[in-house]
Amino acid sequence: MENCIFCKIISGEIPSRKVFEDDLLLVIEDIVPQAPLHLLLLPKKHFINCVDMAAEDDALVGYIFRKAGEIAVEKGFADAGFRIAQNNGAGVGQSVFHIHFHLLAGREFAWPPG
Ligand code: AMP
Ligand code: ZN
Repeated sequence: MENCIFCKIISGEIPSRKVFEDDLLLVIEDIVPQAPLHLLLLPKKHFINCVDMAAEDDALVGYIFRKAGEIAVEKGFADAGFRIAQNNGAGVGQSVFHIHFHLLAGREFAWPPG
């Protein structure tokens, strides 16, 4: 998708700090980390957010959640806990309109989220 910063990261046009990559998914470090561990899980397929999902994306999103758990375990945060966050719409803080999942860990987290 033209003018999408995450599509440009996925294509390599914009550099990133990669944690994991396969055919479906790129996982990078967030450029403005909000926790000691703050990763972004980016499906390589461009869609805006969950409102823009099609039925064919169901398995992809399930895969992303499973991979987030695997990475949290690998990084040693499974016992302390970790948070997966995903914003849908500018009104709740979505600033990049290519669906992505924040994986956050390594500090205390409030509930409800702000
Ligand atoms: P959201 O506000 O939920 O749309 O999340 C977008 C996230 O992308 C924010 O946490 C930003 O810090 C992060 N971000 C924006 N540009 C980059 C970039 N070039 N590399 C890594 N993370 C980025
Ligand atoms: Zn995109």
